Amino acid sequence: MTASSDIAAIGERVAAGERLNAADAARLWREASDAQLRRWAAAARARFHPPDRCTYLIMRIINYTNVCVAQCDYCAFYALPGNPEGYVLEREQVFAKIDELLKLGGDLAGFNGGFHPHLTLDYYCDLFAAIRARYGERLEFYALTVAEFLYLADRAKLSLEQTALRLKTAGVRWITGGGAEILTEDFRRRHSKFKYTVEDFFAAQRAILKAGLRTTATMVIGFDESLEERIEHLERVREFQDETGGLASFLCWTYKPFGTKLGGAEVSRREYLRHLALCRLYLDNVERLRTSVLTQNENALEGLLWGADDFDLPIEDEVTQKAGAVIDLDFESLLARVRALGLTPEYRRAAAAAA
Ligand code: SF4
Repeated sequence: MTASSDIAAIGERVAAGERLNAADAARLWREASDAQLRRWAAAARARFHPPDRCTYLIMRIINYTNVCVAQCDYCAFYALPGNPEGYVLEREQVFAKIDELLKLGGDLAGFNGGFHPHLTLDYYCDLFAAIRARYGERLEFYALTVAEFLYLADRAKLSLEQTALRLKTAGVRWITGGGAEILTEDFRRRHSKFKYTVEDFFAAQRAILKAGLRTTATMVIGFDESLEERIEHLERVREFQDETGGLASFLCWTYKPFGTKLGGAEVSRREYLRHLALCRLYLDNVERLRTSVLTQNENALEGLLWGADDFDLPIEDEVTQKAGAVIDLDFESLLARVRALGLTPEYRRAAAAAA
């Protein structure tokens, strides 16, 4: 058997449902053509979703504070405590952002701030309880990322599960898997003063699920991570899903380098699409694979032909916008682009179902 027919045999087997191992994933990445990866990922997608349909949400990230002590070198958003550019949004400002989201037809808000040393668990519980009381079932929200949740539990000196239960009592239903970036210990040591270990990250997600909250998996590519690190990330996510079955979706977006200490270049359209295909092939136990319009704009929609089945139409995210992301609010033309790909986009209400 020649090397290329060998690759084809691996791809066909994986597309049909056989589990992909790390060594074969690296070979597919290095040796498979774009056409092969796209075709196999589309076949894998078809095991979960009708090939001619996809779903989307309209959402807003609410960056309630930019004060953060983690000092990740890939972040252009944070201000250290005491920096005059630091802010914490007032409650009325948060409400105004949600009101605008609802007006634009969206119903999912994702709260994402920094590791603020002076915001207490009571502050968060009061904020989330007020949001639940004011908006009821008209809105769903991701209360925190897993990374912020870990910091909050530390500051509150409570166990992860106690912290999750306190948030649940305040009306929280979701803590998104944000702050994962690349889940290898070495990556996390290389890039952040402290952003918790991979073990911490999954311990937090276990506690979140045990408390009856829901969570997701995320990944960010384009820093300085190796192919092996990308695959290790996928392996860890797959293992966690085997163990818990609790990950509602997987979203991969791309690093934006502008204004960051780390710098670097952006991931190309081609690399992102190939990566999405690899994710679809590797994550045989995660049903919903999301593509990132926020960081890849129209290119991300093409990802719907490379294994992804779902996307957000975002209206704001200061973290990525500060680092160069450009948001297109012309939803109709984005949806027309999806239709031109031969897919029917269906709006799925976050407030009524899994996000
Ligand atoms: S990425 Fe998040 S945790 Fe890291 S410095 Fe920026 S705000 Fe802080």
